Amino acid sequence: MTHPSAFPTAGSKALPVALVGAGPGHPGLLTLRAAEVLSHADFVLYDRLVPLSLLSHCKPQAERVCVEQLPGDHAYRTPQIHAALIDAARRGLRVVRLKGGDPFVFGRGAEEAQALREAGIDFEIVPGVTAGLGATAFAGIPVTHRRHASAVAFVTGHEYPSKEDSQLDWAALAAFPGTLVFYMSVSRLVYLTQTLIAHGKPADTPAAIVQQGTTGRQRTATATLATLADTMQRGSFSPPSLVVIGDVVTLREEIAWVERLPLFGKRVLITRPRHQADSMAARVAQLGGEPVFLPVVDVLPPLTFDEIDSCIDAVGRYHWLVFTSVNGVRAFLNRFRLRGKDMRALAGLKLAAIGPATADALREFHLEADLVPSAYNSEGLVEALRPRVVGLRVLLARADRGLELLRDELSRVASVEQIAVYRQVDERPTGPALTLLHTGAIDLVSCTSSNIAGGLAMVLGEEGRKHIEAGRTKLVSISPRTTAAARACGLTVAAEATDYTTEGVLEAMVRLISADR
Ligand code: SAH
Repeated sequence: MTHPSAFPTAGSKALPVALVGAGPGHPGLLTLRAAEVLSHADFVLYDRLVPLSLLSHCKPQAERVCVEQLPGDHAYRTPQIHAALIDAARRGLRVVRLKGGDPFVFGRGAEEAQALREAGIDFEIVPGVTAGLGATAFAGIPVTHRRHASAVAFVTGHEYPSKEDSQLDWAALAAFPGTLVFYMSVSRLVYLTQTLIAHGKPADTPAAIVQQGTTGRQRTATATLATLADTMQRGSFSPPSLVVIGDVVTLREEIAWVERLPLFGKRVLITRPRHQADSMAARVAQLGGEPVFLPVVDVLPPLTFDEIDSCIDAVGRYHWLVFTSVNGVRAFLNRFRLRGKDMRALAGLKLAAIGPATADALREFHLEADLVPSAYNSEGLVEALRPRVVGLRVLLARADRGLELLRDELSRVASVEQIAVYRQVDERPTGPALTLLHTGAIDLVSCTSSNIAGGLAMVLGEEGRKHIEAGRTKLVSISPRTTAAARACGLTVAAEATDYTTEGVLEAMVRLISADR
């Protein structure tokens, strides 16, 4: 035994390599153990189909390599993959091999385990939700059912029925008393269905194809064994798709659920800084939409900490500490701790937060806001604070750009100091998300601040603007102020949040889509 416990743990006893299943596509279908090993990894070798958002579980400094970056061609890359894993493990790195679905289901995970064993390198296997279970469940097709199927077979469609050394017994498959789930079968579907029928499987057996199951791009079509290939062609289904054959397919009519989600089939652009986008993306996915990341602004530390540090060192002289963003809270309080300060230094101060997300950020530091206005904007904060700060000293911790309203209004009754605890900069994103925006393939764009509205106006270009004008791409704003900022940039706003929060933006999106449907 190279490790003392039956369940390998993180820390000094961690095994050098983990072969990890990433699940079928939905970021929430990653196991807890997979997230844990990813968070400790130094080197991650991932498959092309693995959702990139899963890599956000990694440490920022972890090296991430897609197998496609390795030399060689798709099917013949196995030796390079094995060599890369062995080499990284020998360099003392903690290695994660991240594979779609489950590593041992048509994933060549076993071959990788064998190669590692041969090289004398210990490993751990982290199973994943295989597409045959994930994509079917998301299509509302149970693979077993007490009345319809008491067995299920996972089969690769990759082999030609005519292949001489085929390991598939087509007669046995045709006679199989249960559900057949075919992986990798899109290009062979005509052969596959015809061969099953030729071997006696009834031509009217219900059948379905599920493309990109569990993702925001999931598509499903149902047919019979005889008509499935035609249905697939007419619907232009492409890999990765799964084929399900059996009576259970009829249950989809009753059980289908993903299609009922409010943002099903909609691509939602998330424009806030990437490191703050995950929770919104998760909510979009929960609502059935496909989150697409295109950060148009970023948040950076200030150029110098002199001003913040002198405020922190003399924090006891303020009566109120006022935060207008999650970033402001984190920037100020992280610096506070970095300077070795004790939270008790804040004991005598009152804390104000502009809205619930900012108040939640304070809770990350075990602090409760003394004041959150009922309207989550600067006006609301002024209204609520003004009577409470008369004659007192107030510190506003905020971005390097923003409204001066708070300072100007409060200065009438209090002694106000304002410091920039972080910088906001415009991003110039490129890549596939930008192409989607320029080609009208984005349905909804979240606009969660005035600065983002400005950033968006710059990246949209002529093409993007056209799609917004035509109503193909709809802009949803977080507040009247953001709406005004977007309009000032010549952008049409399709909807505005009633609650000035991210959740409010999502609610406005849902209202917009339901009205359209
Ligand atoms: N190890 C993976 C399978 C790898 S083989 C697993 O356990 O799921 C790749 C095949 O899996 C694809 O050709 C397709 O048939 C299927 N597949 C993978 N992800 C899928 C998805 N999200 N929806 C439908 N089929 C998928």
